Amino acid sequence: MTSEQPPALSEHFDGRAIIVEQSLHASTELRGNIHFEAFASLKTRQGLQLVWHKPEDFDHFLLNLDTSTHPANPIQGQAIQLIRDAFDALASDIHMTCLGTHGTIALRRMGMLEPWRDMGGRALMTLVRAIYQSMTEAGSPRFDPMTRQEGRIVNRRFLPPTVHSARVHTEPLQTANGQGLLMTIRLLYDTVKAEGTLQERLTALGYSKDHIQSLAKLSHSPGLTLVAGPTGSGKTTLLRHVFEALAQEMPDRSFLSIEDPPEYPMQRIAQVLVDTSADNRGLAYGAAIAGALRADPDYLMIGEIRHPEASSAALDAALTGHPVWSSIHAASALGIFQRLLSLLFVAKFADPLTNLQDPSVLSGLVYQRLLPKLCPHCSLKLAQVLQENSYRGDTAFIAMLRRLKSQGVELTSVRIKGAGCKHCKETGRSGLLVACEIVRTDQQLLYYLANRDQEESLAYARSLGLQTTAEQALDFIGEGLLDPRDAENCLGFFPER
Ligand SMILES: [Zn+2]
Repeated sequence: MTSEQPPALSEHFDGRAIIVEQSLHASTELRGNIHFEAFASLKTRQGLQLVWHKPEDFDHFLLNLDTSTHPANPIQGQAIQLIRDAFDALASDIHMTCLGTHGTIALRRMGMLEPWRDMGGRALMTLVRAIYQSMTEAGSPRFDPMTRQEGRIVNRRFLPPTVHSARVHTEPLQTANGQGLLMTIRLLYDTVKAEGTLQERLTALGYSKDHIQSLAKLSHSPGLTLVAGPTGSGKTTLLRHVFEALAQEMPDRSFLSIEDPPEYPMQRIAQVLVDTSADNRGLAYGAAIAGALRADPDYLMIGEIRHPEASSAALDAALTGHPVWSSIHAASALGIFQRLLSLLFVAKFADPLTNLQDPSVLSGLVYQRLLPKLCPHCSLKLAQVLQENSYRGDTAFIAMLRRLKSQGVELTSVRIKGAGCKHCKETGRSGLLVACEIVRTDQQLLYYLANRDQEESLAYARSLGLQTTAEQALDFIGEGLLDPRDAENCLGFFPER
């Protein structure tokens, strides 16, 4: 054995060379690299044998290094370290983009996606391949950058202490420079931050009193309640806590949940498995919902209505009087109606428009966004920043202030992100704010929605208490809790009135 440390070597040459026992293994990509050639000639003089591999063979060689005798399998070690670093940086998601010779890694922290590291495209692709093939339990064991693939990291040896698993997703990219790949890793934390009654849980998660009151009412309504919002907006977390709290409150009722795949173990709730080997995931999902209904649940949670089959199975469940909660992709609470309707049309559901106009069938529309909360220790008063002339001549900043003013925000109380401090791990942000549109439907509202009367729908929903996420964001800005630039990044520009 030599005293060389493979991980160090691997980092030096972009992960494309490694010493294993008496041989120096290298990818042919390093041919002509003068630093490597110098290193290799030194090593061969010291008695090591130089073994060249074609790039794809080198990847294969690395992945097949026995991790029990080579605990420092360098690529796997690099991947574990990457996840660990992302965890330390308080990230919820890691985005790895390989575009030809260029690779970038970004992190989602407090809801915001931020660039983090750059890396050679090939080295990043090797890392991505290693994560998929040697760390992930996946439907297909073979990594294929040309197709969309999904899997999960469940082996805790690969994960930081409070992460119970990670969801891995790959997306082939087509760019002007050729083929690329995006891998996202979502870290699923097992810290149960919220416990107890529904009110206690929702308070801990950051919902306001009004939100909690409305959600509590909805939780006892029959029919379908749908939660919308982009990825990472806490939809699953909300569903999970509503159901766990209800199950705790009513131990004599039966609760079933159907998720593909289940993300968290849930207390007192039976989690139905979806056949993940099926070719048609939509059909499998629909079949799982129909099957769950035959098991006579009192409450049903469906992770997501993504496929037409799931939409019709969910509506069937609601029509038989079950309280059903699920999530769906839509851009506002009122937008859920059309989204559901179009899925039902595709599913050839009989007369969906009539069924959806019954408030005991479609009872709740919820849309939520998570917004990064400013660190109270290092955020800056807008007035102070302006006095120091830091933004003089910054027309984008001035235009943003004009929009805020026209929306009636009191500028003297606005705060913006500071440089970061020890309290916020140098991020300038601490925690998340929940902006949440909640509508309990009635016949009149559903009638307006069915007739696509957007203005009437919105005006009427307001009379029922709807406040839009943008309006809630403006309130947060006025309270100095939210940087207006973060708000506009998440929700788009506020209109100038
Ligand atoms: Zn701070």
